Amino acid sequence: MIECGEFPSFPMNQNTNEHKIPIEELLKNVKSSPKGLTSGDVSARLKQYGKNVLKVHTGELLLIKFLKQFTNFFALLLITGSGLAFFAENLDPGKGNIFIGWALSGVVILNAIFTFFEQYQSERIMASFQKMLPREVEALRDGKKTLVRAEELVPGDIIFLEEGQKIPADARLLEHNSMKIDHSSLTGESDPQLRKLECTHENILESRNMLFSGCLVQSGNGIGVVYGTGMNTQIGKIVELTKRTNTILSPLQKELQHFIRIISAIAIGLGVIFFFVSILLGQQFIGSIIFAIGIIVANVPEGLLPTVTLCLTIAARRMARKNALIKNLDSVETLGSTTVICTDKTGTLTENNMSLQNICFGGEHCISVDMFDREKIPDEILKVLVLCNNAHYSAEHKTFVGDPTETALLKFVSEFESIENFTKKYPRIHEYPFDSTQKRMISVNKEREKMVAYMKGAPEVVLKKCMKYYNGKGIVPLTDKYSQKILNSYKLMASKGNRVLALAYKESPEENLKEEKFIFLGMVGMIDPPRKEVFEALKKCASAGIKVIMITGDYSLTAEAIGRKIGLIPAGKNVTIIKGEELQRMSESELVKALQKENILFARTNPIQKLQIVKALQKMGHVVTVTGDGVNDAPALKNADMGVAMGKSGTEVAREASDMVLMDDNFATIVSAIQEGRTIFENIKKFVAYILTSNVPEILPFIAFALFQIPLPLTVILILSIDLGTDLLPALGLGVEKAEHDIMQKKPRSKDERLMSKQLFLMSYGIIGMLQAISGFCVFFFILFRGGWKWGQILDANDSLYLTGVTAYFATVIWCQIANVFTCRTRRESIFSGGIFTNKLIIFGIFAEIVLLSIMVYVPFVRPLFGTHSLSFLEISLGIPFAFVIFFGAELRKKLLRNGNKFVEKHFTW
Ligand code: ADP
Ligand code: MG
Repeated sequence: MIECGEFPSFPMNQNTNEHKIPIEELLKNVKSSPKGLTSGDVSARLKQYGKNVLKVHTGELLLIKFLKQFTNFFALLLITGSGLAFFAENLDPGKGNIFIGWALSGVVILNAIFTFFEQYQSERIMASFQKMLPREVEALRDGKKTLVRAEELVPGDIIFLEEGQKIPADARLLEHNSMKIDHSSLTGESDPQLRKLECTHENILESRNMLFSGCLVQSGNGIGVVYGTGMNTQIGKIVELTKRTNTILSPLQKELQHFIRIISAIAIGLGVIFFFVSILLGQQFIGSIIFAIGIIVANVPEGLLPTVTLCLTIAARRMARKNALIKNLDSVETLGSTTVICTDKTGTLTENNMSLQNICFGGEHCISVDMFDREKIPDEILKVLVLCNNAHYSAEHKTFVGDPTETALLKFVSEFESIENFTKKYPRIHEYPFDSTQKRMISVNKEREKMVAYMKGAPEVVLKKCMKYYNGKGIVPLTDKYSQKILNSYKLMASKGNRVLALAYKESPEENLKEEKFIFLGMVGMIDPPRKEVFEALKKCASAGIKVIMITGDYSLTAEAIGRKIGLIPAGKNVTIIKGEELQRMSESELVKALQKENILFARTNPIQKLQIVKALQKMGHVVTVTGDGVNDAPALKNADMGVAMGKSGTEVAREASDMVLMDDNFATIVSAIQEGRTIFENIKKFVAYILTSNVPEILPFIAFALFQIPLPLTVILILSIDLGTDLLPALGLGVEKAEHDIMQKKPRSKDERLMSKQLFLMSYGIIGMLQAISGFCVFFFILFRGGWKWGQILDANDSLYLTGVTAYFATVIWCQIANVFTCRTRRESIFSGGIFTNKLIIFGIFAEIVLLSIMVYVPFVRPLFGTHSLSFLEISLGIPFAFVIFFGAELRKKLLRNGNKFVEKHFTW
């Protein structure tokens, strides 16, 4: 009787006896009764026991999170730089190195504060998303079944639990129907266990009459009385013991790390090499150190990390407005690389708003509901429709609520019969709940002294359990010939897109119902109209090279009819339909082969098989987005690259296992989310390209200075002014750039396309960056030579000629970056096609840049801080022609690209 399988024994289990005492005693202990609590009880108890929430976070974690901001490579590099500057100040005081030291420390601290704050905020946003998906549970309050928020449960509450729900508090069972619980979150034991009403074990965790907070109702349903809430539950005690930390990297984080590593390697490599070159060339030690600092500072894109987080947060908010809630910020971008969407049919592609269309008595007399005549329908049919049904009328919503398949049945019957009369007259004794694997539901009801079992479900399932059928007059044996007739009517209805249910019943069922010898009654066909937005969304997927595969539990003909109606299967094209039972026998290689076909759909599958399909697709190299709503969908949702759960119809388990939740259950929402995801990746690339470019005119002055002994054309403080001042806002502007028109006309990004690709590197470092540096040098030398400087002549750091040259170099880089931000806005399209002024943030950023430049050049007391000099109109404008060269050069390149020039396509784009 007792299973042995050792549960981890927690010290706190000792004094608990809630599983052993008689139920009446427990009810008395929690001052409750089968009638539940009143609102008054509840508010008093909420005060006494607090809210039913787990307190997972602690104050310390925040500090640790903040300190972590200093451990990324960029921060470490900058800290090293600042250390070197202080060191240089020590060796040779009074040369302003101390300012650089302070400035770099300031940058590190500011960056840490900013990134920390942003992460903190985005976590809060994610948390608020979670609040939009409240965990709700039905409880008895003031004698009525009421939907309440899980956090408002108190000891004594009577709660109703269904398949797919997460148990919201510790409770003891009062009633149940084949209820199976998955305890894996509590004990790691993954085999779901059947519940019983009796105490079955000394250890409360093993006793089958208990329900524990955080565990899942795998199947069946039941009623329980709550005795422990919040931290005062088994899971609460575990939480108390272990505070978890989470360190799995998302693809985007990996990309960023990869990127940071490359840039840091360049920075350190260049720094070290040229430090020694500079020493070898006879520079002083101190000069070489300053030089090394410059190289490091020039290489590190200081604004990168905060900008990435900010862009992702903005995208997540935008998606939330479109009904797609992202649970983890970085998965925004994973979505963008989707190559296959595996989608449910019912509710996702269709409205999940079913209405009865056809009704068949026996297997042949099928009529449309319009022609329907109450007199002709046997009572037994109406009884199955109403009694074998878990939907009910809600006075609050003034409509039927529950599974749409079932509400459709009630709606139909309610047009001429009172539902309540039926349910009162024939009370339910027991239920064998519907699940997507068995594809049938059975309800056992009392009818005077008799017991009658009513069954409804997929026709081929129900038919197998029938021996006889009701022909309108009497009960006669079900011959093979007649079965065939039934199947024919079924196929006819299904091929018109009807969702078909068969109905059957039998009298006096045994204690343990044997599912056989039922009497076949008839069938009903329902129509579920496709969602309007789906047509467009599917077209977008086709042009975006995203394959869409329908996976449904419904009948193959119904699935095909719907698939054709919505254009998933193009007119005149053949479709490969794989049925669940075929799939079961397929090897992975056979499945892979089938999946290569153009039009394919899966019918009569059970949800577990989704995982098999997802795995095969991933093996083929696809990035798979999969939708799901039920308990059994969870493995597929977890394993897919992107699991998408339904917010309306989905179970909590599915939502938990997913990366994104659709508030409107709509397929079209997935597609617009994918578009956002693609956009975000492009935008991150755009601003990476933009901020990397200015690294070159920042680095080359130092290299030239070391190699050729010229005066240093750009100082460290001005490099910082570019990276953290003038570059910052335009970079942010690129992060929120609108998608290019062709964003959904390209093939999905390939798995090994890196954020920091070779081409991107070549374009920004090799070409535009070089152009910028050349422009800067031209301007710098023009000013020096005009001022009478001779090659090899050493200029004092305060020489006004030198200061003018440096300032003009700085101004030139700014002009060039202004041109560059425009060229980075689009990858292929002409800048003029989208409109120069459409991105407000960029325009504002440029404006701010120019103001900043003017202040640094023309405000006398600011100049000494930055080591700048005032410039004449000519001097400050010298860079502008170069900017135009960059601008129109890029336009020309894009024009060639649009004309299909292969060479440009291969080498000069990213
Ligand atoms: P899907 O949601 O993909 O259409 P389901 O697993 O919900 O697939 O349903 C599979 C089949 O089970 C349906 O085609 C129908 O025949 C049957 N079915 C669906 N809902 C119910 C229900 N509430 N009671 C009995 N049978 C049902
Ligand atoms: Mg369903």
